[in-house]
This record gives sequence, C-alpha cells and structure tokens, in this order.
Amino acid sequence: MTERLPLMAGNWKMNLNHLEAIQHTQKLAFALADKDYEAVEVAVLTPFTDLRSVQTLVDGDKLKIKYGSQDISAHDSGAYTGEVSGPMLAKLKCTYAAIGHSERRQYHGENEEIVNAKVKAAYRSGITPILCVGEPLEVRKAGTHVAHTLAQLDGALDGVPASDAESIVVAYEPVWAIGTGEVATPEDAQEVCAAIRVRLAELYDGELASKVRVLYGGSVKASSAAGLMAKPDVDGALIGGASLDADEFVRIVRYRE
Ligand code: PEP
Repeated sequence: MTERLPLMAGNWKMNLNHLEAIQHTQKLAFALADKDYEAVEVAVLTPFTDLRSVQTLVDGDKLKIKYGSQDISAHDSGAYTGEVSGPMLAKLKCTYAAIGHSERRQYHGENEEIVNAKVKAAYRSGITPILCVGEPLEVRKAGTHVAHTLAQLDGALDGVPASDAESIVVAYEPVWAIGTGEVATPEDAQEVCAAIRVRLAELYDGELASKVRVLYGGSVKASSAAGLMAKPDVDGALIGGASLDADEFVRIVRYRE
C-alpha cells in the first residue's frame, strides 16, 4: 500500500486580518518542530488578504508550513470583479486552494459545474485543489450520503486527467458536522472516505486512488483527531474553528501523542 503523508489543513474561514495572520503563523511555527513536519504536512488556508503576509513570513523564515486560499476563480484573468485567479495565487506560491467548500456552495451558489471549472483552473496554475464534498443533514437522514458525495466527486473531476487528479486532496466534510460541534464518528468518516477512494479507482485506477489523500472535516478537535486518524482511509483533516486556536491546532497535528 502507498504511504500517504497525513495532511492537517486549517481553514481559517473569514477570520484573522493580515497582522493577526502573521502572529498566528509565527505561533504555529514556534510550536512545531521538524519531527512534526516529518510526520504530518501542515497547511493553513487563509483569507486572500493574508496570503502575502503569510508568504513573506514563510519565505523569510524558511517555515515548513504550507499555505493556500479558500477559493479560486474559474478564470485566469479579465473582467471578473472581486475574484482572485490561479495565476495570482501561484505568484504568491500557494500550494493549495480549497474548492467547493460547503459554505461556498450554500452562500455563493457554487454548483458542480463551477466547482469543476475551479478545479481545472487550479491545475492550470499548478495549485493543488483541496476539493470539499459532503452531504447535508437531510441527505444523511435519508441514507443517501454516499451517493450524494460521490456525485459531487464525479462532477468535480469531470474531464480532469489522471496526470492532474493524482495530486488532488479530497476533503469529506458532512455539512451537518461543519461548525456544529457534532463530529462524525470515525466509522462514519471511514465509510465515506473509503467510498471516495473506491470511486477514484473506478474513475482512474487503483494506483492513483491509493496515492490520493482523503481528509475528514467537520468539528475536528484534538480530542477527536486520533480516533478519526486511526481509520485506514482517513489521511488527515480539514479543520475550521479549532485551527484558530494555535495550541489546539498543534495538538491536532500531534494527534499521535
Ligand atoms: C471547515 O470549515 O472546513 C470545517 C471543517 O469547520 P469546523 O472544523 O469548524 O467544523
């Protein structure tokens, strides 16, 4: 089986101005040691306005923290007021862009077509998508959560070649667990993360599927991280609220201890 380096990615959402971002990133960098980065890849997904500050800090101090955005435009340039493009993010040396987060689907009407176009835009600029998928509560209650999530995955990857998809990160984020304090059980997370991997093998091949990191996201805290990470198809976490507390985020990174 391919060894997958776990990824712990903090989604700051619309929190921390650029000065607070510097302080927060410095705090993380001070707390994290080389052995942490050997065991886990650590990333922060910041508001657009923080990226330049975080880049300057990471470059200047040669930090091992990766960073990226929480969204990306489907277009590379032009008359798209308010949008930020892949080439702009690439110039800031972003490693990642979250795409299709449920808050963007819910508040900004992002459908599968838009998410698909954004995934392709990220790859055009050499940015790795963290593709967010997951079902709302009524779908979970109806028991169709796996089919719902896989349909989102299919839509997002439509026309994406294996040479790109092999680097994708998929985050299974059940909407009912995001920001609610109601974390999925490790078994629930494993069920869908495993189904995502099986679908990747169907869409591409088993070797690609075994390389892709599938994260769980939704009210992850230090107290729940180890249980989730014990599951074979959970390769990390996308962490919202708890990533704003540097000590808690570091405890999540050190989930093995
Ligand atoms: C998220 O924003 O992706 C998320 C999982 O948030 P939280 O950890 O706060 O539920």
